[in-house]
Amino acid sequence: MDYKKYVKIVKDWPKEGIEFKDITPLMDNGAAYKAAIDEIVTYARSKKIDIVVGPEARGFIIGCPVSYALEVGFAPVRKEGKLPREVIKVDYGLEYGENILTIHKDAIKPGQRVLITDDLLATGGTIEATIKLVEALGGIVVGCAFLIELSYLKGLQKLDGYDVLTLMSY
Ligand code: IMP
Repeated sequence: MDYKKYVKIVKDWPKEGIEFKDITPLMDNGAAYKAAIDEIVTYARSKKIDIVVGPEARGFIIGCPVSYALEVGFAPVRKEGKLPREVIKVDYGLEYGENILTIHKDAIKPGQRVLITDDLLATGGTIEATIKLVEALGGIVVGCAFLIELSYLKGLQKLDGYDVLTLMSY
């Protein structure tokens, strides 16, 4: 499927100089959204995963339907102050900003095989931080899946040694 038909490029949003890739038209289209999720599900099946982990908020849009289809759990990674119980945290840099990400301390059991999902890989800071959280809890990151990779920001370099699926590249 030509997924790029369903991605709108918004210039200078949320800041001047950023070309934001808006995936909401893809989600609006049932066939396109299903095809994208199905591809990630097929990939995840080959990895025999125990749990899906995704950073807020768009990582949930990808990860939750994948976990539903595979009948495995989903663990949210969220910004500081959003998860109600004991968390571990990590600092990270964004394409446009800085932040702290957290995960519940009991979200992953040691040795669990984890798929990490997000809508888009930019600089790789978010996914690197998410991997750190999963690994700090003893999880094994067996795959990372994204709708989009921004190749000019070289996020894939941060994922050296990890298995990665991307459905579109810009
Ligand atoms: P990174 O940490 O620099 O790789 O940025 C990736 C994170 O920022 C992901 O969680 C994305 O949801 C978000 N993000 C960055 N740029 C875009 C974009 O152009 N469209 C949608 N999300 C973006």
